Amino acid sequence: MINIKNIGIVSSKFKEAEPSDARLMKKEISYVKVKEEFAEGLYKIEKSEFIDIVFHFHQSENYEMKTHTYSGDYKGVFATRSPKRPSAIGVTTVKLLERKGNTLKVTGLDAIDGTPVLDIKTGDTYLLQQNLEDINNERLKNDPRKDIMALILAKDTERLLLKAGQLHGHYCPGLAMGVMAATHAMNELKVNDSDGLEDLLAITETNNCLSDGVQFVTGCTFGNNALIFKDLGKTAFTLTKRDGKGIRIASRADAKEYMHKEKQAFTEEYARLVGEQDHSKERKENYKLNGIQAALHTLKLDFDKIFKVERIDVEIPEYAPSHESIICTKCSEPIMATRIVEKNKKPFCLECVGEAFGKLDGQGVHNN
Ligand SMILES: [Zn+2]
Ligand SMILES: [Zn+2]
Repeated sequence: MINIKNIGIVSSKFKEAEPSDARLMKKEISYVKVKEEFAEGLYKIEKSEFIDIVFHFHQSENYEMKTHTYSGDYKGVFATRSPKRPSAIGVTTVKLLERKGNTLKVTGLDAIDGTPVLDIKTGDTYLLQQNLEDINNERLKNDPRKDIMALILAKDTERLLLKAGQLHGHYCPGLAMGVMAATHAMNELKVNDSDGLEDLLAITETNNCLSDGVQFVTGCTFGNNALIFKDLGKTAFTLTKRDGKGIRIASRADAKEYMHKEKQAFTEEYARLVGEQDHSKERKENYKLNGIQAALHTLKLDFDKIFKVERIDVEIPEYAPSHESIICTKCSEPIMATRIVEKNKKPFCLECVGEAFGKLDGQGVHNN
């Protein structure tokens, strides 16, 4: 004996089962009204961001064991979300927006007005997240930059910035500029998935924040030898394929002034909005754009007012050779063969014999 109770009802702007599209329905707000006698069961439900609504497809009269899906597939009913099923039960994970008494305001529900609700459960988002992560990890094993490439092609600089922040460690307008310039260059050079990374070279002219945006988006880094540093102190970078046809993007002479002006206006507007919600004078006066706000704001600025873009021919260096390593006579550490110094016919590292070597630090490139 199966004892299923009708614990509530759905209220939705969708009144008919046909031809309602589940995807359209999910975008709208619906209400689940729980019967008074079961209202106590909602205690603390507002702590859940996602809940599962189990409901009855009350207008679904018969079922088919095989059915056509929205995507045009033909499958067994248990391999689909079709409403025409033997038990006519639907389960949908929805976002809980608000609870008012025994009424739940939700989005994501694909049940029509008047649908009887059978059960409500807290959504197992932990499992969902695990699953998504597993799927994503599988994708990354095949192509570590797949997600990044997709964002570049979609010119989604906002998401790219958020990810680039993971490399850079903070959000700032400089990082945003690097993301903008690199995304532009990648699209202009029509870099796509099939191009191997080794076919790309980035030449950066600064060792500040911009370069991290460039490294993250282009995938040309210090570690994979696809990054060249010209110690010129210019907010500029060049992207080129190995054919030497490159694109150089540099900040305009009046970019700083333009960005400053825009930031002032944005700050004032933002402060006004914050001020309307928070009337404490102190907070209003101390209000400054924080890193992420300033960075996101930068992305929305006029690209052509910040940067100038030119096509240039680039001299392409040889591929980085791989060398055997040799053990230093003094410190016994392995050294790349090209960095060996011979003394009394014995190999030493530059440091052990006190010879000069190139060094890049906050001061730029110099000999140690
Ligand atoms: Zn920075
Ligand atoms: Zn040594």
